Amino acid sequence: MRARQRPQRSGYERARPPQTDSRVQTPEDLRRTLQRIDGRGYKAYQDLRGVYDLSPFEIEIAHVQGDPYAPPSRVNARVPLPALGLERAADGERPRILALEDFLGRAIASAIRGQGTRDLDIDGYGQEVLARTAVQIRGGRLEVRLFVHLPAAGRRILGRQAERMFLEALPAILASGLESRHLDLEALRRHQDTTEDHAALTRIVEEKGWVAFVANDALLPRRAGHDDRPMLEDGETPVVRFRAPASLEHEVTLPHAGALRGMAVPHGVTLLVGGGFHGKSTLLEAVSRGIYAHIPGDGRERVATDPLTVKVRAEDGRAVTGTDISPFIGDLPYGRSTRDFATQNASGSTSQAANIVEALEAGARALLLDEDTSATNFMIRDEPMRRLLRPGQEPITPFLDRVRNLHLDRGVSSVLVVGGSGEYFRVADRVIQMDRYLPADVTAAAREIAPPGPAADAPFPPPPPERRLHLGRYRRQIGPKGPKVRAHGTARILVQREEVDLSACEQLVSASQTRSLGEILERLLVGGGGDPAWSRVGREFTPEDLARLLAGFGEDVLDKTSGFARGDLAAVRTLEVIAMINRLRDLEVMSGETSLR
Ligand code: ADP
Ligand code: MG
Repeated sequence: MRARQRPQRSGYERARPPQTDSRVQTPEDLRRTLQRIDGRGYKAYQDLRGVYDLSPFEIEIAHVQGDPYAPPSRVNARVPLPALGLERAADGERPRILALEDFLGRAIASAIRGQGTRDLDIDGYGQEVLARTAVQIRGGRLEVRLFVHLPAAGRRILGRQAERMFLEALPAILASGLESRHLDLEALRRHQDTTEDHAALTRIVEEKGWVAFVANDALLPRRAGHDDRPMLEDGETPVVRFRAPASLEHEVTLPHAGALRGMAVPHGVTLLVGGGFHGKSTLLEAVSRGIYAHIPGDGRERVATDPLTVKVRAEDGRAVTGTDISPFIGDLPYGRSTRDFATQNASGSTSQAANIVEALEAGARALLLDEDTSATNFMIRDEPMRRLLRPGQEPITPFLDRVRNLHLDRGVSSVLVVGGSGEYFRVADRVIQMDRYLPADVTAAAREIAPPGPAADAPFPPPPPERRLHLGRYRRQIGPKGPKVRAHGTARILVQREEVDLSACEQLVSASQTRSLGEILERLLVGGGGDPAWSRVGREFTPEDLARLLAGFGEDVLDKTSGFARGDLAAVRTLEVIAMINRLRDLEVMSGETSLR
């Protein structure tokens, strides 16, 4: 039977398994088809759909683009691991296999570059090791998902060129990217050891109750704001490697690196102080990225952070829907309540308050705040200002007055970059000064200047009553073609006609993660599209419901999300999924029996 020839558009259509010819065809069949359609209109390429035996690889031409300018066609290659000589490398726990997938994806990318072809592509890899759909190893088999531009002159099929691509370039790329005899096995082992060590270090951080661990000799600064690779020596200024201050130095033992020392950031309130340009933000940023494993040579391989750590910032202009920001913002002018605060245009301080409360609601265990991206009036209020304003004139309780009880009452730690105010000395458990890119423990000196005051006034309130998120307004807009959700780069998602700005979700590192967010949102909009697991979260859901749903899919969460085999998705935390939903401008929120907004 011939497969349906319409390009897949909507979530409903996508949810169906692709109907390809299940009969396995030979390379000769592929050659014959290409010779037959050579020179014909582009649509005839649809005849390629199917499965081909290009031993040892099985090639599935899963989706054929409708025209030369449409998004590329999708081709999946499957092969048993023993055929690659990789069964030993795939022997191990999940982090080791994840690292193997990541390594092979990068090897394919470099094989594609080596072939000099622009017609084949794989997902884009960065400094992090992320679970991706581009390469997946399951049950002794490996699947690679590639993008293919089917060659044409105008709209006319270039069959010979396609033949060379499928029967020469593609097998060569797969062989040199995947077969162990073509791989740098020493580099592969390093890749796997490094990833496995990061997983072990993360476990240690969690067990010890630390926020993070930064190993001595780590290299934290990056090459440029838009270039995440490690900073290079330029001859003028040195690149300073990290060294823990003695009082915070701990030793950990990792399965491959063995015993190593570094700085543990304990739970509680940690201040990073120091003069401008001395490396405060760079350290905080490295801690923020420590939720991910990094590739060997990155410099941050041995920085690990509690996976439930959220970097929060001011984000004026964002929409807020039914968030209880009253721990930070009391009644607004003219008696406007902040227990179920809603706005289409939050200020610096209200947006930062909402970001924190929503992160807590989503399960954050530690917060990272940088003065560079915080609202000053949210962070501090100094004595002269406190004296000037009468009670009731200032709705904001600055983070300064809350941070300690946030830890004492809710167990949530904070790491703060504060170069401009010593007021925080009174509430900090420790103060680390960055001096020429090196940390020093200056807690004692800071205590002498500003001894800890009486515990801050009011306890940090318990979490607000169950807040349920509801996407009804978006569902009602869905047309016959299904919902329209598109990710653009790392920081933007288009849903129907709305652009959701995710640039404040600073721990998103890859456009593939943002595409995953888009897929999850689309799935939620169609109520699962027939998949019972998804429909269980129902029309409205708490962040916890969503977390449980996504966790229930285990390592196959990305494929369970996309409904068809996309090769350009990467793992993303539930924290970011919830952050995305909270930013939707037409979100509705229910609590108890009532609709808040
Ligand atoms: P701060 O937040 O204290 O003002 P930053 O962290 O922004 O300082 O760092 C200032 C500059 O120094 C940045 O350009 C950064 O890349 C660079 N830098 C940071 N850490 C190091 C380091 N360990 N070695 C060399 N340069 C560094
Ligand atoms: Mg800074």
